[in-house]
This record gives sequence, C-alpha cells and structure tokens, in this order.
Amino acid sequence: MRKKIVAGNWKMNLNMVQGVSLVGAILKNLPDLNELKQVVLAPSFLNIGVTYQQIMNTPFLSIGAQNCHQEEFGAFTGEVSASMIKGAGASHVILGHSERREYFNETSSLLKKKVDAALAQELTVIFCCGEPLSIRDAATENDYVAQQIQEGLFHLEAAQMKHIVIAYEPIWAIGTGRTATAPQAQDMHHNIRNVIATKYGSELAGNTTILYGGSCKPSNAEELFACPDVDGGLIGGAALNAEDFVGIITAMMNSK
Ligand code: PEP
Repeated sequence: MRKKIVAGNWKMNLNMVQGVSLVGAILKNLPDLNELKQVVLAPSFLNIGVTYQQIMNTPFLSIGAQNCHQEEFGAFTGEVSASMIKGAGASHVILGHSERREYFNETSSLLKKKVDAALAQELTVIFCCGEPLSIRDAATENDYVAQQIQEGLFHLEAAQMKHIVIAYEPIWAIGTGRTATAPQAQDMHHNIRNVIATKYGSELAGNTTILYGGSCKPSNAEELFACPDVDGGLIGGAALNAEDFVGIITAMMNSK
C-alpha cells in the first residue's frame, strides 16, 4: 500500500527561535503516525539541524529541505548540497517547486540533475509540478503536467522512481486562498498516475504517493484527502501555524 504524507513547506519563513517554538507546539498535539501515514517538515536550511534534534525520537516524522544544489561539493558560494542536507538530518528534499522554477529559473534539465544528486544521497524527492492559470484556462493542464514529469523524472530507473513523491501544486492555488476542487485534484492526480504507469507500469504507479498542494487547510483537507488518488498534501501557509498543521495531519489520519 502506498504511503500518505503531509509535508510542511515553511519557505523563507521562521527564524531559529520561531521554528523551534512551532515544532514544539506541533509535537504537543501530533497524532500517532505510522508506516503508512507520515509527516515531513521542510524548514529553511538553517533550521534543518535543530529541527532534526527536536523530532529525531518521533517515529515517522521526518525532515526535508526545500532545495539542493546539483553538485556534491565545490566552489558554489552560497549553495547547499544534497550530502550536506542528509548530514544535517534530512531524509527528503522538495525539488521543482513553482517558486524555484519561476524566481530562480529552474528548468527541467537542471531539475533532472538535482533529482539525480538527491537520489545519490538516498534522499526521497518530493517533486513538484503544476500548471499556471493560463494553461488551466486553455484546458491543456494534463499535457503540461505530464511534460513536467516526463522531463524531470523519466530518465530514472524504476528502482529510483520508488524514491519519488509527486506534489501536484496548481500555481493558481498556491498562497492564493483559491483551492482546487476535490474533483479537479482527483482528475489531475489520476492523470499523473496514468503518466507514471505508461513508463513504469501500473504497480509502481499505484505505489507512488501523489500529494496535493495549494491553499490546503483544515477546512478543505478532509475532502481533498478523501479523493482516491490524493495521498496527502504539501502545505505552505497553513504549515506555519501548529493548530492548522495538526488539523491537516488529523485529516490525513482520518482518511482511508
Ligand atoms: C506551497 O507553496 O507548496 C503551498 C502549497 O503553499 P500554500 O499552502 O500556502 O498554498
């Protein structure tokens, strides 16, 4: 059976003290997680080590980074490698977030290299995809997202693909308060699973965790997570508030 995951992407928010306080509040009310229902926290690089210290004894609660460089080490001032992330306690890395694609010009060919670098360190990759509003309005979102997945991931062997989690995040829903409806999310997640099945077969596709991201909150999480192909969420704004984040985790725990 495939895993369900709620992952919190803190983006460039929370200093060390604020991050420690948030994690403390989350831990107080965190439901008991299990092999099939897990949580990932993705703080800034600076908070990975301290957050890991806070959660290391909590089963099925893990740390993710929000990005990594494609090279393992070298003269790349200001960058952080996958091996550094791993060494600080992270087990996951978010790659291909629409903000990285848009503001930092991350192309599919660069993302391929980052995916390879992360997998070489045995990190699980949370690979983001999702269309802008113009593509949704033109009703070409299925092809657009399929192409992002093909370009970023289809060079992988099946054994590597097992370490990929997909996060579908329609850009028009990120931080806008406008959530995809449950049928819109289900249709796209089903499309993504079919795309993966065409290359890797239906068994691997059926075992791939596909998260929804975009203005997910406690009030809509239950309906979204009830969709058969929605396996949890990548959460931005609501991950910065312990009550909201735990509410979303609880919705995952209550989902089938
Ligand atoms: C995100 O950017 O990954 C995200 C899902 O943000 P939000 O929940 O704030 O829309």
